[in-house]
Amino acid sequence: MLPGQPAVIYRKGLDLKDAVAGALSADYDSALVEQIKADGYRYVAGRLTVHLAHEFGFCYGVDRAVDYAYQARRRFTDRPVFLTGEIIHNPHVNDKLRAAGIRFLSDAGESTERLGPDDVVILPAFGVSVAELADFQARGCTLVDTTCGSVLNVWKNVTRYARDGFTALIHGKYKHEETRATASQALTFPGGRYLVVLDRAEADVVCDYIRGGGDRDTFLTRFAHAVSPGFDPDRDLLRVGLANQTTMLMSESLEIGVVVEQAMRDRYGDAELAAHYRAFDTICSATQERQDAVVDLLAREAVDLMVVIGGYNSSNTCNLARLCAARVPTYHIADAECLASGQTIRHRPVGVAKGVAEIQSGAWLPDGALSIGLTAGASTPNAIVGRVVQRLTELTVLPG
Ligand code: SF4
Repeated sequence: MLPGQPAVIYRKGLDLKDAVAGALSADYDSALVEQIKADGYRYVAGRLTVHLAHEFGFCYGVDRAVDYAYQARRRFTDRPVFLTGEIIHNPHVNDKLRAAGIRFLSDAGESTERLGPDDVVILPAFGVSVAELADFQARGCTLVDTTCGSVLNVWKNVTRYARDGFTALIHGKYKHEETRATASQALTFPGGRYLVVLDRAEADVVCDYIRGGGDRDTFLTRFAHAVSPGFDPDRDLLRVGLANQTTMLMSESLEIGVVVEQAMRDRYGDAELAAHYRAFDTICSATQERQDAVVDLLAREAVDLMVVIGGYNSSNTCNLARLCAARVPTYHIADAECLASGQTIRHRPVGVAKGVAEIQSGAWLPDGALSIGLTAGASTPNAIVGRVVQRLTELTVLPG
């Protein structure tokens, strides 16, 4: 492409799906996992029984994003191909893409400033902010957009809120790429605003302010990093529309919707509710299905413990682990290597803030007949799930 020409954006792949299918399957599929699914999601070896959740692993958005990245690498063999950062939150998948020659703009030594018309940039499944997209376009980069349709649905509603004068109240993590991108959509209309709440406790603070006002400075200090520039709770909490990061705990997103709606009802009454509160269905069906599946598994099977597989910075995996840990002992592991021995397991503590390092626990594998529940986050390939089952078998069945 020549300088000054408009950027080309590929949003539906690059017509190379069949050409990369073999490589994708070799890198991410597992014959063992397919067998377990065929056997009713149950695996037995000696004293070990593994119950696999009926929905787990790669979601449709991740599947598509990784597919498009492989297609981009295949199509543009003679041009530098970049990712803005992690395509999904799984280190194994990102390492495979690095090994294929795709460069990460988030890596040390890389810079957006050097990008130009010869460069190809892949946008991740959780999208990029409005400003980042404009920058890539201004540089004339060729773009391969893998933003998931479920994320686009949230953006569409957030821009509607902004257009209609409603503040987007986003249930999410304000540092997460998807939430930053979603929040940026609120600013595409003059006067658009957003506020990000992490959990029910933060939503309660917002509800208290909606009902009775409060100390403006204390509120702004608490949400300093989570609001749009110039946010004023006295002005910007009068009309609120709910949205969420698609990978949050869905039961909590729904609960937040209920309490915020009630706060608006208390403040303005039923007749005025529609003028002050809006919500829409932003639940990503893949996230919902994976969360429902572990609840279902734990209701059906009396497991001794749960193993949840996924990147430690994967929001949906952390939330699966939270769900499980409320019911049974749960270990969130990154891969099979975390199962060091029958005595030692390396894992991420459940329910703690992002950034906490892996810890090591002992005596995690009980003696005798053993029933283990297993699931994996939406960015975990089946190949890793299969290796975890193999490792559990080694630790419980095979001699030595
Ligand atoms: S978790 Fe949901 S929103 Fe995110 S990529 Fe997967 S399908 Fe799309």
